[in-house]
Amino acid sequence: MSEARNRGLLVVVSGPAGSGKGTVLTELMRDGGYRYSVSATTRAPRPGEVDGVNYHFLTREAFEARIAAGEMLEYTEYCGNYYGTPKREAEEVLQSGCNLLLEIEVDGAANVKRKYPDAVLIMLLPPSFAVQEQRLRGRGTETEEKILARLAQTREELPHVVEYDYVIYNHDGRVDEAVADIRAIVRAERAALCRNKDAATRYFQ
Ligand code: 5GP
Repeated sequence: MSEARNRGLLVVVSGPAGSGKGTVLTELMRDGGYRYSVSATTRAPRPGEVDGVNYHFLTREAFEARIAAGEMLEYTEYCGNYYGTPKREAEEVLQSGCNLLLEIEVDGAANVKRKYPDAVLIMLLPPSFAVQEQRLRGRGTETEEKILARLAQTREELPHVVEYDYVIYNHDGRVDEAVADIRAIVRAERAALCRNKDAATRYFQ
């Protein structure tokens, strides 16, 4: 009863290419109790991506208008395109008591933490750089140039792991463990005293 009145937890998950973020988060979403924040972006849709499901695909002008109107909870420019989290949807989910999942890169994560110090930042990593490289090559879908660019990006982004609250690893064939780690973090964080300072008052209600 009382739990339903709690604000939802803002959970940010970042991870380099090859970390298996998509798979892990899809699995986590099966739990219910989480809502996935659909980001806005100015990049072009990839084959199979659906507007409003994978992203809200916007022109640069439309995106900049949203920034100017203060409608973005956070945004960044990444590889020449804007990416951002729409504020209204996010607030509605949190108010409803549901946990909100943001899958965003390191700059955005740092911006979220500045605005919402309560947010829980989780970095999902492949077991090692060598495994990441193997995974990217194993996909066989990207050019050598793209693979090298992603690996270079990882070298730049990884030092930001110190700004996160948790780091977890997605080992080959053990997606369930990574999902269980996120569940455990969220469960513990929701029970943390800092989020339940009114426990005594509620108890006697
Ligand atoms: P992609 O173009 O591959 O879908 O995403 C590129 C990067 O942008 C990924 O690291 C992804 O996590 C990040 N990203 C997606 N949506 C957002 C967002 O709303 N804000 C920020 N800061 N990054 C995002």
